[in-house]
Amino acid sequence: MNIKEIKELLSAPRQIVITTHKNPDGDAIGSSLALYHYLVALGHDAVVVTPNEYPDFLKWIPGEDLVLKYNTDHKNAIAAIDKAELIFTLDFNHLSRSGDMEDKLNKANATFIMIDHHQQPDDYAKYTYSDVGMSSTCQMVYHFIEQLNHLQKVTPQIATCIYVGIMTDTGSFRFRSTTSKTHQVLAHLIDLGADNTKIHENVYDTNTLSRLQLKGVALNNLKVLPEYHTAYITMSQKELDHYKFKKGDTEGFVNIGLSIQGIKFAAIFIENKKEKIIKISLRSKGDFSVNEFSRNHFEGGGHHNAAGGRSNLSLPDTVDKFISILPSYKKLLNQ
Ligand code: 5GP
Ligand code: MN
Repeated sequence: MNIKEIKELLSAPRQIVITTHKNPDGDAIGSSLALYHYLVALGHDAVVVTPNEYPDFLKWIPGEDLVLKYNTDHKNAIAAIDKAELIFTLDFNHLSRSGDMEDKLNKANATFIMIDHHQQPDDYAKYTYSDVGMSSTCQMVYHFIEQLNHLQKVTPQIATCIYVGIMTDTGSFRFRSTTSKTHQVLAHLIDLGADNTKIHENVYDTNTLSRLQLKGVALNNLKVLPEYHTAYITMSQKELDHYKFKKGDTEGFVNIGLSIQGIKFAAIFIENKKEKIIKISLRSKGDFSVNEFSRNHFEGGGHHNAAGGRSNLSLPDTVDKFISILPSYKKLLNQ
């Protein structure tokens, strides 16, 4: 990314939209709001627009109450995009990931700036800061601010936003993408006012009884296929309804399978009757690429060890398809 040109672009007050992927997660909301606070402090007129709603455990992050949701705050979101001179797209790299906003973004006149750490970035942005080795888009926002020589402008609010995304995207600092640099950034964020204990509590200690009971269902539904070092979970719409499923309730369930000794590949299949799809989350350990697996078979993508996708088949047919594909990966999974 040409940082000199970006500096130039940001040297006068701009109308800016910051947006992120559908079903935003901690990294998506954290990075968007960190950048929002930073740009507003520089004197820009910025607004965060998400394609849709995000889980309650993110509804305390500073500035979160100002986020426009494209599907429910439609008019204001459209107006913001129409007048935007710059559009930052964070934590995704293909406009199809923005759900119903895709068409609107495709037609927007603004200059696009992408900051993202997923694989195979598309070329829609004039400025692309893409690094698949990064722990999170939040860490990249930190480095973006650093590149602009503005780390002294990082407030406790901004530090908090950035900390959230690094924490959630690294599985609390355990995934391979967590480098010594990541820890240096985190240490600096704590020095700048991020309350790490409070942030952990706000995000992770928010269970409801029904959510824990839903986790019980997930545990009960867990199946292991030892010959493929694979484990998977299904969640039917009926089960979700029975335990009053709310967005975010199944977050992290896919990792249960991966915590079994010897398992290298884990999947969860979540029925969504309203969208008429099965939403799939995939995780792996080591060399097995769930990004490739999802791209090749389930219209998705993501990272090497964490990806998502979808299926238009029924829940049982999706599982059958999944199991029928595994033999062609047997060698890889047994390495
Ligand atoms: P999750 O399983 O938590 O929804 O997503 C895991 C990772 O894969 C995230 O980084 C997410 O952005 C990405 N991802 C999830 N679903 C999709 C999808 O349908 N398409 C693509 N390209 N990436 C996805
Ligand atoms: Mn991310």
